[in-house]
Amino acid sequence: MTDNTSFSKDKTMFGTEKNPSYVMPKKLTLESRIQFRCHPDVSCFTACCGNINIILTPFDILRLRRHLNLTADEFLLRFTAPTYLEKTDLPGVKIHLDEKGRCPFVTPEGCTIYSVRPSTCRYYPVGMASFHEGAQEDQNEERFFFLVKEPHCKGHEEKKEWTIADWRKDQGVDLCDEMNAGWMAIIMRRKSFGFQASMSEQAKKIFFMVSTDLDKFREFVFESSFLDTYDIDEATLKEIKEDDIALMQFSYLYLASSLFGTEDLKIKEDKVQAKAAEVKESQKGAEKRAEETYEGLKKERDAMKAAIKKQKKK
Ligand code: SF4
Ligand code: SF4
Repeated sequence: MTDNTSFSKDKTMFGTEKNPSYVMPKKLTLESRIQFRCHPDVSCFTACCGNINIILTPFDILRLRRHLNLTADEFLLRFTAPTYLEKTDLPGVKIHLDEKGRCPFVTPEGCTIYSVRPSTCRYYPVGMASFHEGAQEDQNEERFFFLVKEPHCKGHEEKKEWTIADWRKDQGVDLCDEMNAGWMAIIMRRKSFGFQASMSEQAKKIFFMVSTDLDKFREFVFESSFLDTYDIDEATLKEIKEDDIALMQFSYLYLASSLFGTEDLKIKEDKVQAKAAEVKESQKGAEKRAEETYEGLKKERDAMKAAIKKQKKK
């Protein structure tokens, strides 16, 4: 997309949802060539900025609210609506469309926040997918691209040719990928667990807070018992106190560690020992309860045997 442009509906951070038939059945690489151009003179200009699902990543929210000079609360209230992320039970936000189903940032002249438009707006019409073959997120990853060609989008009829790499560079997609990677890995991990793996309401609230409001997360780190639990070195503390991007990347490590028990953040030794003691104590309790149950059953069975014996003697 060029300046003052937008994109098409039925797309999310994770690809097209409603119309997978518009996904061209061809795997593309960074060197593959596509023909596409979007500009104010296309007949469909801004047609795609409505009836659309634009999920916002933590990086999108941070960039947008800085640009609009709003606090996270102000931004969320004015421009977003709650949603669940990528068919999981993880709560997030999407852009709240107006009563006509249009993005609040679109005008007849194009996108009014073009320089800070969300990641989803930048990806279109080139989607990305990846396969992971190892246990680690970044091991043996096969990444490929695909083109989304929807009938109403006339950009595909334009003559301009690009490699996928040049297209992504032009749209500022690489930076978005870098900023969103840790967060998206958490969502995909949660998705792979399915709904049967339960997650507490408290954990979901923390996920939401961390994903939408970095100021609150900073308060949580520095003004709660967080630092009594986690062992964070001085240099990292200094960095995350002052730098929002460093704090955001740190928040992904925290989420992975608190939601999935990864070792991205180190828990203080005394906390580990206290937890081990707690588990041991509860094990002891369980063993004791099992022993009592066993003894109770044994007593009942002996009493029953004695009663039968007595009966026979008569
Ligand atoms: S943010 Fe901009 S590009 Fe994205 S849908 Fe809204 S107006 Fe269109
Ligand atoms: S060319 Fe495609 S991306 Fe550009 S405005 Fe038209 S529908 Fe949207």
